[in-house]
Amino acid sequence: MIITMKQDVTDIEFSNLKKFFEDKGFLVKDISGAELKVIGIVGDTAKLDIEMIKCIPGVQNVTRIQASYKLASLAFHHEPTVIDVKGVKIGGGKFIVAAGPCSVETEEQIISVAKSVKASGSHLLRGGAFKPRTSPYSFQGLEAEGLDLLMKAREVTGLPIVTEIMSEDMIDRFVKDVDIIQVGARNMQNFHLLKALGRTNKPILLKRGPSATIEEWLMSAEYILAEGNPNVILCERGIRTFEKYTRNTLDLSSVLAVKQLSHLPVLVDPSHSAGRWDMVEDLSKAALAVGADGIIVEVHNDPERALCDGNQSLKPEKFDRMMKKLRLIAPIVDKEME
Ligand code: PEP
Ligand code: MN
Repeated sequence: MIITMKQDVTDIEFSNLKKFFEDKGFLVKDISGAELKVIGIVGDTAKLDIEMIKCIPGVQNVTRIQASYKLASLAFHHEPTVIDVKGVKIGGGKFIVAAGPCSVETEEQIISVAKSVKASGSHLLRGGAFKPRTSPYSFQGLEAEGLDLLMKAREVTGLPIVTEIMSEDMIDRFVKDVDIIQVGARNMQNFHLLKALGRTNKPILLKRGPSATIEEWLMSAEYILAEGNPNVILCERGIRTFEKYTRNTLDLSSVLAVKQLSHLPVLVDPSHSAGRWDMVEDLSKAALAVGADGIIVEVHNDPERALCDGNQSLKPEKFDRMMKKLRLIAPIVDKEME
């Protein structure tokens, strides 16, 4: 961390500032030039509050050198993290696919979709049981019964299941019965939930908030990692911009940014990004080409009658066709797709 002092800083203010950091155990290096008084603070500055330091008398400007997240940072963990979910390896050169309906609706529906996505080579089954809907009058999900049905679908197909948690009081049930716990975009900054999930050892799929910067997203991952859970998978699902043609704007450059900044695996959700099924295949190809570790895609056996997000769900035949294409592309972009 570099601190530039005001031109009129007094000697007392300057020495008080140095003492402030030395008392906290930091090494303080005076790197003043002819014009400006500047100090460098050496140590783990991630825990220092920049805004507070800016208020100290004599301080003009504070610049972080080290990212404010440490455990999520590639600078401190040079190898890519690979998360093993019942034999499905997420990260480290593989490209995986999680597919299934937006919501679990009936036993027949989830078993039928699970069987078809399995037959097309999906590695994981997705399906919402607790649904974060914009309107309180929309279908809210089958809740606990939805989890039971997902477990049945897992039993039938062998596919590990990923589903969204909305509140801390469901953590025990999710830890017991779910393979990957999804934190939805709307809960990316529900810090109590993140901390509680950090005290488990379950893989967590952390979606990017609709208006979150990449740094805020990585800080949310840091909340989980800081509590001791190293199993965080990021998911880019589109952000809110002025553009209305698509539901969200898929920020594919965030995948590149995450790869530059972090060791954590990152998936892309083309379904919630586009909000329309006719873009899902091409956005998935783009996600593969840009280096994502996989995708999470909505597939429904009867999208016209889906209780949620039918317009962005692929029919099983379209999903099958897409999987075949992705398998052809994967080796060209140095990804391994089983
Ligand atoms: C979902 O995956 O079903 C979902 C609600 O996604 P998001 O949190 O990205 O909106
Ligand atoms: Mn959905």
